[in-house]
Amino acid sequence: MKAKQILNELTAYKPGKPMEEVRKEFGLNRIVKLASNENPYGFSSKVREALPAFADEQEIYPDGYGTALKEKLAARYGVNLDQLVLGAGSDEIIMMICRTFLAPGLNTVMAHPSFSQYPHHALIEGAEVRAIETKNGFHDLPAMLDAIDEKTGIVWLCTPNNPTGNHINKADFESFIRQVPPEVLVVADEAYIEFLETDDYFDTLAALDTYPNLLTLRTFSKAYGLAALRVGYGIGHPDVIHKINVVRSPFNNTTIAQKAAIVALDDQQFIKESIAKNNQVKHSFLAFCDAHQIKYYESHTNFVLIYDLPVSGDELFQHMLSKGYIIRSGDALGIPNSVRITIGNEKDMTDFTVLLDQYLTSVKES
Ligand SMILES: *Cc1c(COP(=O)(O)O)cnc(C)c1O
Repeated sequence: MKAKQILNELTAYKPGKPMEEVRKEFGLNRIVKLASNENPYGFSSKVREALPAFADEQEIYPDGYGTALKEKLAARYGVNLDQLVLGAGSDEIIMMICRTFLAPGLNTVMAHPSFSQYPHHALIEGAEVRAIETKNGFHDLPAMLDAIDEKTGIVWLCTPNNPTGNHINKADFESFIRQVPPEVLVVADEAYIEFLETDDYFDTLAALDTYPNLLTLRTFSKAYGLAALRVGYGIGHPDVIHKINVVRSPFNNTTIAQKAAIVALDDQQFIKESIAKNNQVKHSFLAFCDAHQIKYYESHTNFVLIYDLPVSGDELFQHMLSKGYIIRSGDALGIPNSVRITIGNEKDMTDFTVLLDQYLTSVKES
């Protein structure tokens, strides 16, 4: 068969072992997943209460415009409906953006390590990927600017960045976007924006009028705790949104997902509480790292990347798996001797740090 050549070099996304499989394999009672940056506090109780009422009309196609959800988002962010595109997670929007703005002969600029879906879909579209090494986990913005040329279709800024966790400050972002040619799309992936612990960031939504080439991505999967429902959105210039909508499949958000997302937006108290708990537990974990000389990147998210470990990321991953904790090996992310740990709840993180300490001590002694 005649599949695209590039598909011989790519693999399907590996979402990590299903929890039930791990539980059986190691004969464990309970598995703690600290691998996908999900919300350990679940999702809004208001959504939970409302969900049964959303069970009706499953025989009817969803609203393909997602009008009610878009109206809600438009009111919240002070934008118009034609500035919004919805996706089955921002993953799907990343795919649609690549399909819209990339083709053979074009290139795309991004940080490395950063979110794996940017290069993945760019390569499938036949574009050249220009991945610029991060410095201390930070986007190397001057080098990224240098990599842009007349064939550049998209530049990706993941802020805060997955998997390093740090963010781009206001001055750096502003100086960067001012220098990007106006015909190059700048995507700001803000999947973790809710977790920022500083005011020193570039308000991309406020800048949309100034920069028609700026597109902001957000998701209900992380702070909102609705990863299973698959809802993400993009906010940008109507011309950009219009083109992406041409590519979008007709009914890409289910009725339940659209309705639940509206309720979730109204419960900011849940978000506030989740963030407060996350940050408290995160700082306890960072204090543990400091006390044990474990290096980590500054994190404005609900995960921490620890690096320069005395073992490979895969080894630590395997060890923790056998103890019932699923973390993400940095080997897969392109950073050897590192792991990315999603910040779980206080009890799970306390237990995890005890195991981590024991393991690293045993490695040192052997
Ligand atoms: C998790 C994540 C996404 C995608 O989340 P969806 O569940 O598809 O909305 C996008 N970008 C980054 C950086 C992420 O970490």
